Amino acid sequence: MADYNPKRGGSYNYGGKQWKLSRSKIDLFLECPHCFYIDNKLGTKRPPIPTFQINKAVDHQLKKEFDVHRVKDTQHPLQKEYGIDAKPAPHEKIDEWRENFKGVQFLHEPTGLLVSGAIDDLWINDRGEYIIVDYKATAKNDPVRELDTKWHESYKRQMEIYQWLLRKNNLKVSNTGYFVYCTGKYDQEAFDKKIEFDVVLIPYVGDDSWVEPTIYEIKECLESKNIPKFGDECEYCVWWYARNEYEK
Ligand code: SF4
Repeated sequence: MADYNPKRGGSYNYGGKQWKLSRSKIDLFLECPHCFYIDNKLGTKRPPIPTFQINKAVDHQLKKEFDVHRVKDTQHPLQKEYGIDAKPAPHEKIDEWRENFKGVQFLHEPTGLLVSGAIDDLWINDRGEYIIVDYKATAKNDPVRELDTKWHESYKRQMEIYQWLLRKNNLKVSNTGYFVYCTGKYDQEAFDKKIEFDVVLIPYVGDDSWVEPTIYEIKECLESKNIPKFGDECEYCVWWYARNEYEK
């Protein structure tokens, strides 16, 4: 029996007690308002793709590593290597902000939408500005050093939503965030029960000015009685309509 439930309980739909506007929902709205509406208003989510456990393992290890330096109030070697005037930030809410089902939250009063997003890490620089940090893991022939693919646009928006959320929680947040990008190597001589990673720190200067206007658009979408149009780039419905051709 599949875990996927195409008719979700109403409390997880818009208007229900458990519903929140997570950063991934904001991204889905931008990708395809049609899917966003069917998911959040009507209760049928697009079937999920499996979470890659190797990425979770990398995240977990990085969090542990940076936490050691957070407690000691020292720089992580990566911060030294890149000459960044920052340390992992101690904050009483850091654990809550990193928890998937809680995260950083902000109630946007004009729309009544509770916006949330779970960060990977928070650093602080010498000027007392908080820095959003996101960990990414992949495997490729060459280490990722630039944010230049379609996926990366989504990563940049993710960073900007976190910056907006923390500003709304009254933190002074630097426009510059960082991706700790870990690329698993294909060219090891022998597997030897381990995969080695290149770790690259990629800075990104965010601009969160689009976030609030998008929240208003989302509110309008959710209040509408009409299902909006499809997005252009998703391949699922293209596949769905093509496969239905065979069943006519
Ligand atoms: S194209 Fe279809 S599956 Fe893809 S996001 Fe839109 S409604 Fe969902």
